[in-house]
Amino acid sequence: MKVLTVIGNRPQFIKAAAVSPKLREQHEEVMVHTGQHFDDELSAVFFSELGLPAPERQLNVSGGSNTSQAGRMLLALEPVIDETRPDVVLVYGDTNSTLAGAIAGAEAGIPIAHVEAGMRSFDRSMPEERNRVLTDHVSALLLCSSEVAVSNLRAELVAGNVELVGDVMVDVARAIWPRARGRSDLLAARSLTSGEYVLVTAHRAGNVDDPGRLLRLVELLLAIPHPLVFPLHPRTRARLEAAELLDRLRGAGHVQLTPPLGYVEFATLVCHAGAVLTDSGGLQKEAYLAGVPCITLRPSTEWTETVQHGWNVLVDLDRGAALAALERPAPIEHPDLYGDGRAGERVVSALTLFCG
Ligand code: UDP
Repeated sequence: MKVLTVIGNRPQFIKAAAVSPKLREQHEEVMVHTGQHFDDELSAVFFSELGLPAPERQLNVSGGSNTSQAGRMLLALEPVIDETRPDVVLVYGDTNSTLAGAIAGAEAGIPIAHVEAGMRSFDRSMPEERNRVLTDHVSALLLCSSEVAVSNLRAELVAGNVELVGDVMVDVARAIWPRARGRSDLLAARSLTSGEYVLVTAHRAGNVDDPGRLLRLVELLLAIPHPLVFPLHPRTRARLEAAELLDRLRGAGHVQLTPPLGYVEFATLVCHAGAVLTDSGGLQKEAYLAGVPCITLRPSTEWTETVQHGWNVLVDLDRGAALAALERPAPIEHPDLYGDGRAGERVVSALTLFCG
């Protein structure tokens, strides 16, 4: 079997790290890096830390609007698919690279396999939601992280085969976190005490591209009465600089700004945080896995189970709601929602059976 994997941004490198090495034990994989995330901090560091094989093809497509970026990816993918003639195109998650890989493959008549299929926030104003829905409806093999994702796909009557494999990020967490948890030196280097800081990330277009919402985000962070550590995504840093808000955060004694961190250091900060404040999808799930309460800076989430079980509160950019959520005690119950850490194996088995 020949698999053409299309990845392009930080969470996809992490997800592919659970699958690619196992896939390559039995099959041929051609990995295409679209270039969506190209800086070392968002790309190269994950290949070296997580043992992800170097991509066979680099498309070097980045920047521009979602339409322009996805369009350039489609144009660049067409000849790669024609040349390699894979049995299946494998895509992950909900980005422009996911959508471009899915459409380019489907147009070439190649079956698409989608890892993390069926996630829904039911908010079609978000590009990620549109990418998920469109990708799922051209996919032949829909590999789901959770029971909720399976039910979402059944309700939408998708045409492809739906399979529950568990979440591939759980595999990576189980492999790396025990080591990361022990890295108290990384906390000490940032003068952080376990359980006594809030880990912040924010980079959704809906929060940082609108100057009014960006100001609300900054004011919310300034009001938090705990030490904050905030690894800044390049997009967020650029928007804060343009809005002349970066210095307000820099000047706040309780806010520690850092560059984007590698997986291990970031995992250490997740595992030891008192709470997580984020608009990231992956981090909501990781906070749950780490048993750390999460406050989500969005009005909706695709990780609905985390909210239902009381570990995640959606506050959008409401400062009062965020402050109140920070004071909530953590729930007692913590069921396994996202599988047993063997999702990567199941993805490979499902692909093997599918391509028969
Ligand atoms: N992450 C990281 N370093 C950081 C911030 C995040 O390694 O400085 C990891 C995090 O552990 C998670 C993934 O990146 O696994 C989430 O990526 P991101 O928030 O960019 O994407 P989303 O999940 O929102 O699509």
